[in-house]
Amino acid sequence: MSLLSVDQAREAMLARLVPAGTERIPLAACANRVLAADIVAVQDLPLFDNSSMDGFAVRAEDTSGAAPASRVTLRVVADIPAGSTPTMTLAPGEAARIMTGAPIPQGADAVIPVEETDFHDRSPGTAIPPTISFEKTIKSGENVRRRGMDVRIGDTVLRKGDLLRAQDIGLLAMLGFAEVEVHKKPLVALLSSGDELVEADAPLETGKIHDSNSYMLASLVESAGAEVLMLGIAKDTYESVHELLERAVSRRVDLLLSSAGVSVGAFDFVKEVVESNGSLTFWRVNMRPGKPLAFGEYRNTPFIGLPGNPVSAFVGFEVFVRDAIGKLRGFPAGDGLKARVEPHRSVRVISEETIISDGRESYLRAVVREEEGRYLARLTGHQGSGNLLSLVQANALLIIPAGVKCVPAGREVNAWLL
Ligand code: AMP
Ligand code: MG
Repeated sequence: MSLLSVDQAREAMLARLVPAGTERIPLAACANRVLAADIVAVQDLPLFDNSSMDGFAVRAEDTSGAAPASRVTLRVVADIPAGSTPTMTLAPGEAARIMTGAPIPQGADAVIPVEETDFHDRSPGTAIPPTISFEKTIKSGENVRRRGMDVRIGDTVLRKGDLLRAQDIGLLAMLGFAEVEVHKKPLVALLSSGDELVEADAPLETGKIHDSNSYMLASLVESAGAEVLMLGIAKDTYESVHELLERAVSRRVDLLLSSAGVSVGAFDFVKEVVESNGSLTFWRVNMRPGKPLAFGEYRNTPFIGLPGNPVSAFVGFEVFVRDAIGKLRGFPAGDGLKARVEPHRSVRVISEETIISDGRESYLRAVVREEEGRYLARLTGHQGSGNLLSLVQANALLIIPAGVKCVPAGREVNAWLL
């Protein structure tokens, strides 16, 4: 297998992933889910002509000629609170008190705001006055929200593949959709591997380290919109890795995500276990950090093996797994996917120092600051892939393209703001 570029590897991975199935769920549970079907309006919005102000519904023609020197007076014949259904028809010379959102009565075609009238008592419970007067001419349609002016019945208001945000959910409720067909939230099984690993709360004996990847990756998986199944730590044996992967498959997870054990070490069993129970599409990528990054399937379940070093695991997640989860969540593939799942703003930054690279596509930890409308970047300390503190202190990853060995100080490069 030759060394794939990041783009080739990502495309090969995305081509093999299938979006999670769909389900109908209550609207209140739909936040951050991805629509599985277009949403077509089943009613007009607004559904009836209504007032956009608290005031008086009038016939616009009755107000013509109103001016400070010639105030117009109308008789108030009705009171229309929001939620009511006016049955009367407004005759010439008449007005009806009306509240915001209340239906415009027959005969009326405009609303004069209460502030524009001589009716100053606006405390709750005040009865309607016998008359109102005002000095302003109102045009037909003024302060009236017309039926269908926002949405027409039959309009497609949201599309399959759209992420449901708060405003989308509000609109669905407006249209009366109490349940929505969305993609299932993918379930991602997380596995750490290594005889040196112990849980974060276990004491450390010589040679042991805390498993930091499980915690970091769980948080990343959740931020990417999937659910986590924690498998824990596999020993560096075929049987231990196999047992945990079997447990995940029996739980019907949508993605198996491991860290470590996919390199060329004598105890790197993860790769072997996957190959004996499925296949690998690739197991190395031309990137830094994170060259030992594997993708394939284990008994028909997609598998991504991230490198063990924490910074490499983080970068591998951002470059590969976030997109993979995006595809599983139901985002449309192609450029749309990138735009939707990329959590980082991509910006051009000027490197303040000369950067030496090894020719692989590199993701380097940096601090970016804005100065006079330009972004300036400096690397954070040494770029060892076990140095998680330098990632903690970074606010960006600088992306040095494949084939580039030196970026002179003052040159522009792409960066992801973290
Ligand atoms: P490996 O891919 O197994 O050779 O691991 C590469 C490096 O990453 C080693 O130094 C491991 O100790 C370290 N490492 C592997 N898994 C984890 C983990 N879950 N948390 C922290 N470090 C890890
Ligand atoms: Mg190991």
